[in-house]
Amino acid sequence: MKRDKGLLIVLSGPSGVGKGTVCGALRQHDTHIRYSVSATTRKPRQGEVDGVNYFFKSKEEFEHMIENNQLLEWAKYVDNYYGTPRKYVEDTIALGHDVILEIEVQGALQVRETFPEGVFIFLMPPSLKELRSRIENRGTETKDLIDSRMTVAQEEIELMDKYDYVVENDEVEAAVERIKSIVTAENCRKERL
Ligand code: 5GP
Repeated sequence: MKRDKGLLIVLSGPSGVGKGTVCGALRQHDTHIRYSVSATTRKPRQGEVDGVNYFFKSKEEFEHMIENNQLLEWAKYVDNYYGTPRKYVEDTIALGHDVILEIEVQGALQVRETFPEGVFIFLMPPSLKELRSRIENRGTETKDLIDSRMTVAQEEIELMDKYDYVVENDEVEAAVERIKSIVTAENCRKERL
């Protein structure tokens, strides 16, 4: 059954919980979900490619995008801007394809306002201790930055009730299966047909 509009799926949760890994694994499952590439003022990490992992922007370029209403949502997160380019998401949904956004909590709550028909999934770490060790093991942040990310993480977990679904990321493949089930179920909702 072909629907006129695709589903907007927002995958959110604290930094380090594994949103990127889970999204990458979802991609391997060939679910036909499209992935939105965010813009950021953060410097690229080793191996990150402009236009693939992020659109890397200067502060001025990013502020220009905000002023011109080119972002569906944006947030300042640990001293950098992050935002979702609006056009790709709107065009892809209008063509009937499902799109997933992998974003932090402030941005997800903004999308809730403008796209209440979206599906909001909070990816939950098994524990805060496990979250810290995942960020440490990534080896990309200094101790101060890890502390800042952990403070934000605790605030973000308190907002979990604002989501439609909470998925624990205890094991990547298990989390992916849960998300695929959610997307399948949401696509069968009679009000979306
Ligand atoms: P990182 O610097 O680790 O790539 O990302 C930091 C945080 O920003 C993560 O929680 C990530 O999901 C989030 N993020 C990435 N892209 C966006 C975006 O477009 N908008 C918002 N609000 N958050 C984003």
